[in-house]
Amino acid sequence: AKSHNRSGYSYFTRDMGVEIRERVRMMHALRAAFEGERLFVVYQPQVDMMTGRTVGAEALLRWRTEDGQFIPPDQFIPIAEYSGLIVNIGEWVLRSACFELMQLRENGFEDFQIAVNVSQAQFSHPQFMQSLERALRDSRIPPHCLELEITESMAMTDPEMLCSMLQKIKSMGVRISIDDFGTGFSSLSQLQKLNVDKLKIDRAFVSEIFSNHSEASIAKMIVQLSQSLNLAVIAEGVETKEQADALLSFGCKYAQGFYFAKPQTKSDLRKYLRA
Ligand code: C2E
Ligand code: CA
Ligand code: CA
Ligand code: CA
Repeated sequence: AKSHNRSGYSYFTRDMGVEIRERVRMMHALRAAFEGERLFVVYQPQVDMMTGRTVGAEALLRWRTEDGQFIPPDQFIPIAEYSGLIVNIGEWVLRSACFELMQLRENGFEDFQIAVNVSQAQFSHPQFMQSLERALRDSRIPPHCLELEITESMAMTDPEMLCSMLQKIKSMGVRISIDDFGTGFSSLSQLQKLNVDKLKIDRAFVSEIFSNHSEASIAKMIVQLSQSLNLAVIAEGVETKEQADALLSFGCKYAQGFYFAKPQTKSDLRKYLRA
């Protein structure tokens, strides 16, 4: 926690020392977990609500410690980003997703798509494009089956760089979606310039759809925005049938959330797709 002592200039308090030490400890533990193959990827189905069909999945990272505990990504992704570990870990997630796609395709799921989260540090790394090309080449999947999820805040730090990267990625055929859309205050003119394929409505707007009028109108507005810009749209964090019905009535066809399916291991995903 941030704290100020009475003299007002020494910001490095004992508390912060503990916090930094904890972060360093976690960073070492994360590196060891990555090297010891205790990280794994789960896949959360994405559903076409009109047909009930599962059309794809989002790849989500998991960390299982040696004593069997799970550390949530919200806790370790920031440390991975801060330490630079996200570059190698993220590349591994990307490759895992591509190889899972390859195997699903061999099992007859040929239109399946997988979305992979990409953070700023990964994206701005000079080797990112090469690792993306390599993952596609090695897995031999068609690029349009792969989708990268970026966030609005990435558009704000360096719009020029992002724009030219997205151009290259799109020319390869890989799809791009904006994650947590509506929470990052990117401008509409920026959005148009970025030339993405899909908007992902943040869970916050979905969970409040019935309890909060303005959240419902935000969800509705994002759907309308996607229609007028000719983008696909998907809602995340759909937990009830009522939420799904409301989103469908707004014109949002695709959804992801516990109401449909939780994130699952590779083998559970295959069982789920066969059922
Ligand atoms: P996100 O990208 O917004 O991912 C969606 C999160 O919502 C996931 O949490 C998912 O398990 C959760 N979720 C899905 N459906 C529901 C629902 O119906 N209700 C509720 N309450 N939650 C739902 P998770 O897996 O804990 O991931 C948290 C965040 O960590 C992700 O948020 C993403 O920002 C980050 N993350 C996860 N994997 C990766 C990765 O491989 N790379 C990067 N850079 N970030 C990742
Ligand atoms: Ca995401
Ligand atoms: Ca999201
Ligand atoms: Ca979210």
